[in-house]
Amino acid sequence: MPTLDTTALPPESLLSETLRDDFPILQQTIHDNKRLVFLDSAASSQRPRQVIQRVQDLYERDYANVHRGIHVLSERSTDAYELARQKVQHFLGAKQDHEIVFTAGTTASINAVARSWGDANLSAGDQILLTPMEHHSNLVPWFQLADRTGALIRHIPLTDDGRLDLDRLEEVLGERTKIVAVTQISNTLGTINPIEEITQRAHAAGAVVLVDAAQSAPHLAIDVQKLGVDFLALSGHKMCGPTGVGVLYGREELLDAMPPFQGGGSMINQVRLDGFTPTGLPAKFEAGTPPIAQAVGLGAAIDYLTAIGLDKIARHEHALVQYAYEKLQGIEGLTILGPSPEHRAGVVSFVLTEPHAHDIAQLLDLDGIAVRAGHHCTQPLHTLLGIAASTRASFYLYNRPAEVDALADSLGQVAALFRPSGRKRRRKEAKS
Ligand code: PMP
Repeated sequence: MPTLDTTALPPESLLSETLRDDFPILQQTIHDNKRLVFLDSAASSQRPRQVIQRVQDLYERDYANVHRGIHVLSERSTDAYELARQKVQHFLGAKQDHEIVFTAGTTASINAVARSWGDANLSAGDQILLTPMEHHSNLVPWFQLADRTGALIRHIPLTDDGRLDLDRLEEVLGERTKIVAVTQISNTLGTINPIEEITQRAHAAGAVVLVDAAQSAPHLAIDVQKLGVDFLALSGHKMCGPTGVGVLYGREELLDAMPPFQGGGSMINQVRLDGFTPTGLPAKFEAGTPPIAQAVGLGAAIDYLTAIGLDKIARHEHALVQYAYEKLQGIEGLTILGPSPEHRAGVVSFVLTEPHAHDIAQLLDLDGIAVRAGHHCTQPLHTLLGIAASTRASFYLYNRPAEVDALADSLGQVAALFRPSGRKRRRKEAKS
């Protein structure tokens, strides 16, 4: 029998029970009638009907290429696309709508800054300050920039429980630090990082700050002016929006001074036989046909999330995580990665003494539970923790306490099956 902490009581659901009905994909059963328990939203969330419908409406009624045609459909499509930009502006608390650039996602946004701002501002011996909990998307573009320029990579150390050790920030933040690139929420540890404090201290040292908001924008209210950040990157598909669209927020002065990172249609003021002059913000950074329907879908996702309220969503997820943390801790042989619930968002990664993370995910899948296994694109963090892989359950607004129960029950059974007594039982069963 699994050893479960029976003292953990399910939290009251803070969000309406009917909200889940907005998500058609969650209404299915899999593997012989098991109800789907989707706990992989940190990889990509699901979308509500309202978003799917908005994209369909655009394609059925209003779609044409933007900014080009002098005809009704092009005007409607352009209006919808630019309205989506304004929705992102308000969602992030940006001063101007032209500080919002549509990209293909967080990865594309960070690469754009590393290429455009990085190449123009860094030289040999300058320093790029990262953290060991970054996703590969917020590591590799900076390594590539360091290779191109001769800049050096530094890291903010971690505390033993997986938070940034800001008491030691001065050891790595100095006058040669040109940029601090940090995630607001770790996609593996769930740690919520104190961006406002980091930004204040980075600015005092003369560095700019880029925030990877891939895991935070879907889950908590962001105000770029209050946080004081210079750049911020997010992905639509993690926040109930379509794939293929993301956002780069940049402060106007910085974006204005940056060269375009891609060349092509729409980003020019004038093209001659022997050269070109770029246009202004934000078109300067949106070469070619942009992700029109995806951006409009992202606007609908923002409407959906803000109608519910980001604060409510954050509190709902926090209650789920607290509950999951308590229940999972009762499972013998299970170790949860990262800090205690008060410092974390809706991500719980863990390891079992046995079996391997991939086997755990496969066994949970047989019970209808979708989780992630592997290094979650945070290989350096896993190396630092001395593990090759972990299993990750991640929660979003549509998850319910009963799904935490299902996870804990199934995991308890997996753990029991791989304990020495369970192994003997399995061998006996295999022989008979
Ligand atoms: N940063 C973090 C913290 C992430 O979790 C992810 C997605 N797993 C990314 C960046 C990359 O996002 P995308 O693949 O949408 O570009």
